[in-house]
Amino acid sequence: MSDSLQQDFSKVDVLIVGAGPAGLAAAISVKRQRPELAVCVIDKAAAPGNHALSGAVLEPGALARLLDPVRPDWRDSDEAKAVLAARVERDDVLMLLGRKRSFGLLPLLKAARALGLGYGRMIHQDDYICSVSRLVAWLAKVAAELEVEVLPGFAAADILWDEGGGRAAGVRLVDQGRNREGQPERNFLAGETVKADFILLAEGCDGLLSEKFIAQAGLQRAGEQLYSLGVKELIRVSPEQYEKFSAGRVVHAMGYPLWTPVLGPDIFGGGIMYPMGDNQIAVGIIAGLDYRYCDFNPQDALTLFKEHGFVKQFIAGGTVVEAGAKMIPEGGWDAVPRWPRDNSIGRGNVALLGDSAGLVNMLKIKGLHNAIESGLAAAAAIAGAPAAPEKLAAAYTAQLGKAGVDREMAAARNFRQTIAKFGSLLGMLLALGGRLLPRFRLEPDYTRLEPVSYPLRPARPFDKNAFTALARTGHREDEPGHLRILDDSICRHRCLPKFGGPCVTFCPAGVYEKIEGLPRAANPSNCLHCKTCQRKCPYDNIRWTVPEAGGGPRYTTM
Ligand SMILES: Cc1cc2nc3c(=O)[nH]c(=O)nc-3n(C[C@H](O)[C@H](O)[C@H](O)COP(=O)(O)OP(=O)(O)OC[C@H]3O[C@@H](n4cnc5c(N)ncnc54)[C@H](O)[C@@H]3O)c2cc1C
Repeated sequence: MSDSLQQDFSKVDVLIVGAGPAGLAAAISVKRQRPELAVCVIDKAAAPGNHALSGAVLEPGALARLLDPVRPDWRDSDEAKAVLAARVERDDVLMLLGRKRSFGLLPLLKAARALGLGYGRMIHQDDYICSVSRLVAWLAKVAAELEVEVLPGFAAADILWDEGGGRAAGVRLVDQGRNREGQPERNFLAGETVKADFILLAEGCDGLLSEKFIAQAGLQRAGEQLYSLGVKELIRVSPEQYEKFSAGRVVHAMGYPLWTPVLGPDIFGGGIMYPMGDNQIAVGIIAGLDYRYCDFNPQDALTLFKEHGFVKQFIAGGTVVEAGAKMIPEGGWDAVPRWPRDNSIGRGNVALLGDSAGLVNMLKIKGLHNAIESGLAAAAAIAGAPAAPEKLAAAYTAQLGKAGVDREMAAARNFRQTIAKFGSLLGMLLALGGRLLPRFRLEPDYTRLEPVSYPLRPARPFDKNAFTALARTGHREDEPGHLRILDDSICRHRCLPKFGGPCVTFCPAGVYEKIEGLPRAANPSNCLHCKTCQRKCPYDNIRWTVPEAGGGPRYTTM
């Protein structure tokens, strides 16, 4: 056991797994209201913010509700200026047609807003452009100043249950110091345990503990969870290009290269461009993982997006200075897991926060505000009943309702599902029906793959090694592989003949390679922790587990 945990943290009042916006918001808010409680936040990243990647356009209300009571002057601080790059003054929503043409959709969205239609929520005017890695690093500092124990470099592997099995007692951390074969080495440290009265799972999208907890505690989703993958680069451009783009402008683009009406391809998603200060523009593609093309590489789509005439004028000749990839849970309100007995988003003394619960609003393409709001709601539940941990999940769910998260999520509940069911063109038209539409039954993303090719190709293959180098990702070379192909014979006899081994293509980190003709997790140390492999392997034949703490990407501005 490490000294710090042995001495101080083997039992705490509140344990938070995941130091993202949700977990840190909860920590700050609990400690503000109940300074006597011992609050500990653990994160698998080497430093706060290293595993945080987002767009990001931030709806600032929840952040203000979090910080106003603890740092009333936060708006004028240097940290706020570094985190919130600019206020959105120009909001371009574009339809890209082919490699050169584009037209603006903002007037349509404004009309939709005037008519009270869901699409009106896609407008980002007056939000803030923000670096999420910096936001997380800053929130971690605020939390530490309030005497929250923020422990980066601590990865959780399992939920611990009490002897009767009815109540979660804490978590077990990942073993450190095993060799590639799984044998303990000389510096081996068995995964220690941290016990807690209240446990908040804030692991982000497709969290390992969260999904284990959902299964073990019998939580259920009314609808299928859907995912998308975001691949993103931060590009340093010339001062002239940056000025031309302008510091307060955000671009959200649909159409090419993911979707061309009628003629195809048809993939849900689009491109983003955000100015991040210091002559840097973030450029990314977000692609729904319910795509059907077995040879689709989201990074090829990023290349094609960057080569579109509209985008190219702002980034040509620029240098990529950081890169990364992360999944987004897109299933919406129906995919939020609940305990059937009382509809809680969690059970007993365990609550699911932020992306772990799936609180992303796909009409807004935003989850940060709800992640922070969920932290505030969990804190209100804990502060309101410190002596009744077993009521946490129910109280937290009620607080989310009070904060209006359920209304917002419910209003967007059918948008993504309708497109998943009917494709982009018909789906977008039908989605105008909003909440009047029925709930559609959907299959998991991995079942949607077909033996058909993505019709577009960039001129040169994407350099995944350069991409992972710019994510500064790494793991101890000799640790056990944290990505498992469950059954090689499925790869050999089913996947290769039908789909050609798509994990080799879609993994943004190039973890998978064909060795002697068979896909292998050959480069686990390149892993970006995006977990796309376990959600898009067409035979559900890959499992991602948490590697030793401190590994993975080291984002600083994403
Ligand atoms: C490409 C992209 C663009 C986006 N754009 C926007 C946008 O413009 N606006 C917006 O509002 N939202 C956007 N989002 C969504 C937004 O980023 C998320 O909703 C938000 O980050 C969720 O916060 P969270 O705290 O729940 O999870 P996360 O931010 O994912 O944080 C989870 C933390 O938990 C840690 N963790 C996970 N498992 C463990 C474990 N077992 N042990 C220890 N630590 C663990 C991780 O390392 C991570 O630090 C975007 C997301 C992506 C990927």
